[in-house]
Amino acid sequence: MTGTAAPRLQRRVALLGATGSIGRQTLAVADALPDRLEIVTMTARSDAPALAAAARGRSPRYLGLADPEADLTPLAGLGAGAGRGPDALIAAATHPEVDVVVVAVVGTAGLPPTLAALEAGKRVALATKEALVVGGHLVMAAARRAAAAVLPIDSEHSAILQCLRGAAPEEVEAILLTASGGRFVEVPLDRMERLTPPEALRHPTWRMGPKITIDSATLMNKGLEVIEARWLFDVSPSQVQVVVHRQSIVHSMVQFRDGAILAQLGCPDMRLPIQYALLYPERPESPWPRLDLMRAGALTFEAPNRERFPCLSLAYRAAEEGGSLPAVMSAANEEVVGLFLAGKIGFTDIPRRIGRVMDAHENQPSPSLDAVLRADAWARRAAREA
Ligand code: NAD
Ligand code: MG
Repeated sequence: MTGTAAPRLQRRVALLGATGSIGRQTLAVADALPDRLEIVTMTARSDAPALAAAARGRSPRYLGLADPEADLTPLAGLGAGAGRGPDALIAAATHPEVDVVVVAVVGTAGLPPTLAALEAGKRVALATKEALVVGGHLVMAAARRAAAAVLPIDSEHSAILQCLRGAAPEEVEAILLTASGGRFVEVPLDRMERLTPPEALRHPTWRMGPKITIDSATLMNKGLEVIEARWLFDVSPSQVQVVVHRQSIVHSMVQFRDGAILAQLGCPDMRLPIQYALLYPERPESPWPRLDLMRAGALTFEAPNRERFPCLSLAYRAAEEGGSLPAVMSAANEEVVGLFLAGKIGFTDIPRRIGRVMDAHENQPSPSLDAVLRADAWARRAAREA
């Protein structure tokens, strides 16, 4: 071959949530593409030994723990600066050597570092959908101001972004968001009352952190994703339709105004959407398993059962009403999922409590970051007392 090869992107990465499910898979992507991706900063909530283990063999410049009381001694001797407390996430996200920030923490905690990263002009590869649910208007405004991109790691939104390549916004009629339906598409309704945390923690196709696994079982995860899609792709909530697709092979679809539907298919493997977000718009060759369509079997599509999954209706209501209500819903959900995992409330109490907290909330239009965080704190208290 002659001529010069096209320049290939190289990106220096901040990894927030390095010890979690997405964090570990991001490290696997970086290990598979060592000449393209370098991990420059890493954070975890409080598990210093796990963060140290993840950092070993790399040369990060900075390691941070979100817990202000975390023990930093296991991080010594790794040749990296270290810090703790909420500012540690900001420091990792805004480090001068960083190009792209992977936000893969759980819940509202992802919002402040996402905003800080965008304000510093960094690209954000976003796994923490809650950041968009809680403060989507703030995140998208910050991205516009800094001309910095927010690229989804969530597999459905990555699929949508891939289907939208080359499309004009006004050509889009609807987004068809696929849902595996969690484990409980078929469990009798009266059995749902007595589901235990270990039962609810087993997901049929994806291995994920505990909070998102419960969110998948209640379908709140899909509700959060409706709001996530609304912000990322600038559509109205009514343009986002949820389609139950149990095989998790079609990761989502876009319907265009001429009636055509485009879909993205693949193995259920988060490494592909992570790689796509990190190196977008390039598609370097990857070693991940290929989908064998001849062995995939039948693909099925059905409407979600709203009676069985009230969280989906709660999320559409929050999406339509907007303001501080989505933040209240998301924070109440984080809190009640914690109560369920601790064995303190039943599975079907999850939507009941969230609904009560939403009913009691006085909605505020276009809340500032402070107002969002106040609404979040109020919702957590209300959810514990409900
Ligand atoms: P996880 O529980 O496996 O890992 C969470 C990581 O974030 C850990 O490193 C933990 O130390 C850190 N963390 C948790 N709470 C924190 C806090 N308050 N402050 C700072 N750090 C904190 O979770 P996960 O499954 O990797 O999910 C992370 C995010 O990605 C969630 O928002 C989830 O909805 C989203 N997501 C995950 C998947 C998946 O396949 N796991 C898919 C799509 C989206
Ligand atoms: Mg998803």
